[in-house]
Amino acid sequence: MPRYQGLPASPGIAIGPAFVYRPRQVAVTHHRVEDPRAEWRHLTDAIEMARTQLVALEARARQVAGEDEAAIFEAHRLFLDDEELLGRLKALVLEERWNAKAAVHHVFEQFAEALLSLEEEYFQARAADLRDVAQRVLKCLEGEEEDVGEAAEPVILVAEDLTPSDTIRFDREKILGIVTAKGGPTSHSAILARAMGVPAAVSVAMDLADIRNETLCILNGSTGVFSVGPTLHELELARREKDQWEAQRRVELGQAHLPATPRDGDHPVEVAANIGSVEDAEQAVRFGADGVGLLRTEFLYLQRNAMPTLAEQVRTYRRIFEVLGGRPVVVRTLDVGGDKEVPYLGTGHEPNPFLGWRAIRMIRERPDVLEDQFTALLQAAGELLAEGKPVDLRIMLPMVSSVAEVERARELFEQAKEGLAHRGKPLPDRVQFGIMVEVPSAALLADRFAPLVDFFSIGTNDLTQYTLAVDRTNERVSVLASPYHPAVLRLIEMTIRAAHAHGRWVGVCGELAGDPPAVPLLLGLELDEFSMAPSSIPTIKDLIRRWSLAASREVARQALDFSLAADVIDFLKAQTPR
Ligand code: PEP
Ligand code: MG
Repeated sequence: MPRYQGLPASPGIAIGPAFVYRPRQVAVTHHRVEDPRAEWRHLTDAIEMARTQLVALEARARQVAGEDEAAIFEAHRLFLDDEELLGRLKALVLEERWNAKAAVHHVFEQFAEALLSLEEEYFQARAADLRDVAQRVLKCLEGEEEDVGEAAEPVILVAEDLTPSDTIRFDREKILGIVTAKGGPTSHSAILARAMGVPAAVSVAMDLADIRNETLCILNGSTGVFSVGPTLHELELARREKDQWEAQRRVELGQAHLPATPRDGDHPVEVAANIGSVEDAEQAVRFGADGVGLLRTEFLYLQRNAMPTLAEQVRTYRRIFEVLGGRPVVVRTLDVGGDKEVPYLGTGHEPNPFLGWRAIRMIRERPDVLEDQFTALLQAAGELLAEGKPVDLRIMLPMVSSVAEVERARELFEQAKEGLAHRGKPLPDRVQFGIMVEVPSAALLADRFAPLVDFFSIGTNDLTQYTLAVDRTNERVSVLASPYHPAVLRLIEMTIRAAHAHGRWVGVCGELAGDPPAVPLLLGLELDEFSMAPSSIPTIKDLIRRWSLAASREVARQALDFSLAADVIDFLKAQTPR
């Protein structure tokens, strides 16, 4: 049977018939119209119909997928309000007598091409959104209602790629797994699959033309392998693997809300979640998170044209703190720049964006952004505490490379407190203040940073990128980017040792913390907190409970003796059950 390799995007095994999703593209031809006024009315009606559909989709997305997905449809709707875009459509139809379909295709493509020329992943995704909206308007021009291309029985959804509209259209009860030929592990398809808890593989090297509807398939979302038309023997093996995986997952989920104490430990290790929205916060609690180890606050600033207001920030933080109900929440201050562009904040094109004006480095030119964020966080926590609701707010700075950045940020933090006190606002009594250790200079100087902070959180994604000089977004060098590289491990060890010598706690919030083979290594290095994608929490808690501190210390000692990342990972994999 054909076996296709892709990137694992959501763990688990699905067995079922394929449903090959081929969205219909509207055919567009260009001609001159006799009555441009009537054509323009036709087009404005279609735009109105598209807008109505998007309002409904936004509401549905909010219900079934959460705020993040809803925000995508809001952004789609805003494209339809764009004055420049509407102006160009109007000029083509009324002045140049273009037919509506050709005008829509032409203008949306122009806008999409402009975004694509910017090359950044963020703008590429916006271009895809624009094309999605164009297709919607074109279908409305044909008077077509939303087609709910659905399968009658549960299926493995196979697609070239999925747009946000597609992901909302399908009935979740009917989807066993998702396979796409395009997209990365952070694409909409992958995000949707993880939110639904179904297996998924993306970037699968397959040609959709070779796959027939209803062919029985096996998808392994943990390895990224998609097999079409298996033999009975292969099917039998996959069924057994699926049963084992599900039985293990049930055990893990059943114990997800219990603390994770190593076999010989006298207190639990904290297992926390990395989140980036209110919806993620809810998911984190469902999966048994002891707290939040990383709240990425970028979501408040992306996909918009102006800074979020203070009131909006306070509202969102309040909701997240309420969901966490007094569990610790480590909020990372804004980390834009690098691969996350926010034009209204002035993150422009730079020759080396990851080495440029990113994260805490904004503090010199835009101290107001950070002070505003401190104010919003303190106000949100202060208000809830005054209402008798528990909050454990912790704040950390991203990409710190110099002690001066921490000192300056602390000044702004005090300023924010004074500002609130001056306005008679209640303040939380104690807010822990920490930094991310993701630049080698911070790890090397951990003993100098420790007296200035309450905690460290090691961002292994960036620490790996900066230690090994490997761009984390460049696929050509991705094989070199291993957090198991001995140089990265040595920096992690140094950081933990320096922090503990000063009585500070240390977490890891990079992807390493959620990788099963890393459990004995990090446990053995005496890490205090593991923070990861919510769905990984049950597995990592289960593994921590299986290890003793004594055995994991020995594993860590041996792991640090290797000179090659590949040897470290082989050694660690041999120690772990999965
Ligand atoms: C990291 O760098 O490890 C990290 C957690 O931050 P981000 O992935 O958001 O850069
Ligand atoms: Mg980082």
